[in-house]
Amino acid sequence: MVEPLLQVKDLVKYFPVYQRGILTRKKVGDVHAIDKISFRVGKGETLGLVGESGCGKTTTGKVVLELEQKDSGEVLFEGKDVHEELRRAPRAEKLALRRNMQMVFQNPYGSLDPRMTVFDIISEPFVIHKHIPRDEWQPRVYSLLKMVGLEEYHAERYPHEFSGGQRQRISIARALATEPKFIVADEPVSSLDVSIRAQILNLLEDLQKRTGISFLYISHDLSSVRQVSQHVAVMYLGKIFEYAPVNQLFDKPLNPYTMALLSAVPIPDPETKTKRIILPGDVPSPVNPPSGCRFHPRCPYAADICRAEEPPLRELGSDHLVACHFAEKFA
Ligand code: SF4
Repeated sequence: MVEPLLQVKDLVKYFPVYQRGILTRKKVGDVHAIDKISFRVGKGETLGLVGESGCGKTTTGKVVLELEQKDSGEVLFEGKDVHEELRRAPRAEKLALRRNMQMVFQNPYGSLDPRMTVFDIISEPFVIHKHIPRDEWQPRVYSLLKMVGLEEYHAERYPHEFSGGQRQRISIARALATEPKFIVADEPVSSLDVSIRAQILNLLEDLQKRTGISFLYISHDLSSVRQVSQHVAVMYLGKIFEYAPVNQLFDKPLNPYTMALLSAVPIPDPETKTKRIILPGDVPSPVNPPSGCRFHPRCPYAADICRAEEPPLRELGSDHLVACHFAEKFA
């Protein structure tokens, strides 16, 4: 098993819901965005985090990077508690930790300042972190542009002069400018054309091979998750339902929710026929999640125990964790 770079233990994040009166504001509940989730990302590995919209994937990425405060639980990076370090450590150590953990956002159109040149965008982390001497900025920016498949002359241009795929390359170059060990990539290809997606995914894989960087790759697109990940965690309504090495999860899923998600993935072989599992109803409200197993109102295998008891995430086979009372039945 690869040594962990990031470990998340029993992480919880709720968002309060308020009811407003004319002069009052009363708390009426909580959105259970993340509810006691645990996972780890190995050194030089990619963990794919998948699930339907609103399941808590993006909140997980933000809480891991401390862009949102956690309610409880731990996020350990190289064994150190990220949230504690960022609160208590001296400024130099905080900056070093921030340098090591970066994020690539979903929307390359909104995440780049249109008034800045590409040179200024990519060199901005040098100003903040002061880890590169001023006279090395230009060669470093050029080398980052080359690393992401762009040219030196692109440095003097503005974001609006680029295509969506090129803008995402600029975002990736900016994230790499701090020489991070870990990047949260939140739906990095979902706003791009299909033809450009493959290029960006290949770029992420190539960067990982060259630099040994680890990724938390957040996506609802299982095909791209399969391409770039070594392990996959499946989320539903703020919980991890399954965690396994990528091929094991795709070839032998042990949770009915994972099975339903996988049945919707198109297979590029006309000879292979798959049966699509259509789940009844919508995803329940995260303000008032169902009792027991949160998937029970939509699960074709639900029994009385599923309505009464929450299934723990337990190990079933090597490195394969499942939250389902009947997982053995599907093994
Ligand atoms: Fe379905 Fe029950 Fe398993 Fe939940 S615990 S996934 S409801 S069979």
